[in-house]
Amino acid sequence: MRRFLLPTALLTAIWLFLPLPAQSAPCMLVTLTGTMSGPALINGVAGAGTLVRYGDDSSECGTMKLQFDAGRGTILRLSQLNVDPDQIDAIFFTHMHSDHTEGFVDLLLARWNFSSSGARLDVVCSNDVSSPLGFTMSCGKFVTHIGDAFVQSGEIAQRVSEDKRRLAGGPAELAHLITFEPSDAPQVVWSKGDVKVSAIRSTHVAGHASYRVDTPAGSVVIGGDASNDSPAPPRPTSTSAQVERLAQGAEVIVHSTMHPIMGPERDSGMPAPVYHRQSLTPDLGAMAKRTGAKYLMLTHLAPQVGATHHGPYKVPGGALTEADYRAAAEAGGFTATTIVGSDLATLRIPAR
Ligand SMILES: [Zn+2]
Repeated sequence: MRRFLLPTALLTAIWLFLPLPAQSAPCMLVTLTGTMSGPALINGVAGAGTLVRYGDDSSECGTMKLQFDAGRGTILRLSQLNVDPDQIDAIFFTHMHSDHTEGFVDLLLARWNFSSSGARLDVVCSNDVSSPLGFTMSCGKFVTHIGDAFVQSGEIAQRVSEDKRRLAGGPAELAHLITFEPSDAPQVVWSKGDVKVSAIRSTHVAGHASYRVDTPAGSVVIGGDASNDSPAPPRPTSTSAQVERLAQGAEVIVHSTMHPIMGPERDSGMPAPVYHRQSLTPDLGAMAKRTGAKYLMLTHLAPQVGATHHGPYKVPGGALTEADYRAAAEAGGFTATTIVGSDLATLRIPAR
């Protein structure tokens, strides 16, 4: 047998010249699953939401999947990305407005129907907040009662009778609720492996929170509908000081925006408080410049590009173009890349 053995020196030489296995670098994909602002219906645009995928080249950046808000049609957009509801690791809500939440029942029902025996879904959001006006904003109750209509209709019992693997309590039983008290300093609210999600208090409606995802590939901030703590001018900016703190050094800022064309000094008809509780595009551009962002992804556009009306409100001067939004961000001083959101717009970090 000895004559078949190669001398050690020769084996070492062969090993030294073998090509190294390809490096699999960490990467992240940020996808807008919906870009509609508010409950208006325009040309099939889905309700607000952002999917953040993280992994490495070998997994096409898709080992982990985090969803932020889930407006109308979210799972239709996810299906276009070949992302199944049971692949989502966690979902985070910025606030309890239906344009950010109404797609959740759809997502959770699909997961309940087909993957009831799988992992429960982490649902991360603010603690209950009581308003002096006598109502309470409650993500906890929203999640706990998410399947009530389908329990009451009898559908849950009927489908469980067909397939005993389905959870008898309906989709709510599949949710693992994680709530936190939003504060003015970033706090870690969820983590898994080398991915960390932090939250900060922000202003839009009571209980609003903004999020930051930190991964070895980079960081992305999801501002949601955040605006300045001062509800109306005079104020230094319409953007949130807390979101600005959260976004320091992050490569990507995903943020809802309002174009100044809808302002109360024009004749859009939009009530001033509705206008003022969003961040204006030039102010977002200025904030993104200050935090050093490489990319500003504008979403939840009011008005939508190409639309002459935003729900009941008219767009003074006629429909806006993508260039109008980019110019508005540049007017704030942002000279890096502005992405004017459309459904399924995707950004890869690092860029190829
Ligand atoms: Zn909204």
